[in-house]
Amino acid sequence: MLHIGCHLSSSDGFEAMGKTALSIGADTFQFFTRNPRGSKAKAIDPQDAASLRQLLQEKHFAPIIAHAPYTLNPASADPKTREFARLTMQDDLQRMEYLPGNLYNFHPGSHVGQGVETGTQFIIGLLNEILTPAQTTTVLLETMAGKGSEIGRTFDELKYILDGVKQNDKMGICLDTCHISDGGYDLTRLDDVIAEFDKQIGLARLKAVHLNDSLNPRGAHKDRHAVIGGGTIGTETLATVINHPALKHLPFCLETPNDLDGYAQEIKLLRGLFRG
Ligand code: FE
Ligand code: FE
Ligand code: ZN
Repeated sequence: MLHIGCHLSSSDGFEAMGKTALSIGADTFQFFTRNPRGSKAKAIDPQDAASLRQLLQEKHFAPIIAHAPYTLNPASADPKTREFARLTMQDDLQRMEYLPGNLYNFHPGSHVGQGVETGTQFIIGLLNEILTPAQTTTVLLETMAGKGSEIGRTFDELKYILDGVKQNDKMGICLDTCHISDGGYDLTRLDDVIAEFDKQIGLARLKAVHLNDSLNPRGAHKDRHAVIGGGTIGTETLATVINHPALKHLPFCLETPNDLDGYAQEIKLLRGLFRG
């Protein structure tokens, strides 16, 4: 059974996302915890959250992914920017307990010139302030394309963050195929990439995959997603990703430039390419 879904709009609430996912053949999905550019989150409707919890259970969904606003920068040189990231992520994690046992993904951040080492220490410091032993959510670092001064372009940089987090039993990794290709990893040699991940980080940490094609060649450090088969990675290689024995049990989430019909078609295509 392939667990696959896509990024959905949360504007109609939790249960609506679950129903939309079902309508396009998905059994997982991702959503932004709040307007990705804004700061204020809608108050949680506990009834709506309960309805989604029930639907996820009844329809045997894989874990779903909440995505932090991509404008946050936990690695910023500016204390106010870091504080804003901390407060937002802390609030998001409290809200995630309405949907216990799922995933919360964020972009580690950009060091904006102060260096990977300093930026990384800020990320670690923030995580050490917000993670709690009681939380049921697993917090994921996303693999990044290395655009500008993004931290998390290499497995090594992600491993360094995990090592610094005290509560790192609450931490995992979300692997984005567009980002790692843009970051320089060669997905046509998937066994090597996975062996490298296992050596640096450990495969047990891998909790989700963002399945995207890329508009740019390997190593371009750009981060522009393409539809499946419409980019430089290609359908054949992405099919090896969903079928790899080390990955095939994971939730796969499309973040391709698509409307719902396009997502439904990609989900159908990928289910057809899954060998079980
Ligand atoms: Fe992301
Ligand atoms: Fe992504
Ligand atoms: Zn991206």
